[in-house]
Amino acid sequence: MSISNNIIKIKSEIPSNVTLVAVSKTKPIELINQAYLTGQIDFGENYVQELVDKYDKLPKDIRWHFIGHLQSNKVKFIAPFVKLIHGVDSLKLLEEINKQAKKNNRIINCLLQIYIAQEESKFGLSFDECKELLLSKSYQNLKNISVVGFMGMASNTNNSEQIKKEFSSLKNFQESMASIKLQYHTLSFGMSNDYQLAVECGSNMVRIGSTIFGERNNNS
Ligand SMILES: *Cc1c(COP(=O)(O)O)cnc(C)c1O
Repeated sequence: MSISNNIIKIKSEIPSNVTLVAVSKTKPIELINQAYLTGQIDFGENYVQELVDKYDKLPKDIRWHFIGHLQSNKVKFIAPFVKLIHGVDSLKLLEEINKQAKKNNRIINCLLQIYIAQEESKFGLSFDECKELLLSKSYQNLKNISVVGFMGMASNTNNSEQIKKEFSSLKNFQESMASIKLQYHTLSFGMSNDYQLAVECGSNMVRIGSTIFGERNNNS
């Protein structure tokens, strides 16, 4: 299967209101360009240096999503151009993004990462921590960031009932938050192995790598 066929197939399986983020980490410029030429505009990367290199070399109308774990000291490198930062899980990081966004005279959209998996190793906030953060004065004083929704990753399991439960908990949380503030509209969950289930559970942004570009040969 070619990259363009893979994209067309995925797009035919997801409703048109669901944004497809093509996760291109570790993949070369030429493959990203192939995807771009089929009309794919949203791309996701996990590593700051790699993202900056690719931003420099590729068309400037690409919307770059940062989906990895972002370190505060690296925010400045992506702040001039990043479209959406998915994995924000602390006030400290939000404050740094706000500072760098201000320097660049822009507002940077962020998603708060919520911890929904049963595994120990994943990053993210609990529902309560997330609510607390959004209600805090310190957060409300940040004028150069906009939290537009939430992101999560389900447990790495074949148990689809478990995954469904985790996704649905995030969807319910997002709905309850959006009823307070409409701007919390984006829900980023679903990857190669679980995007159909994710869409059924209410995701409106899926992040898909290997199903588009093929398996990655390292562990990232
Ligand atoms: C790598 C990655 C993806 C894409 O994973 P695939 O299984 O290749 O689709 C999605 N989200 C995050 C946060 C990732 O790190």
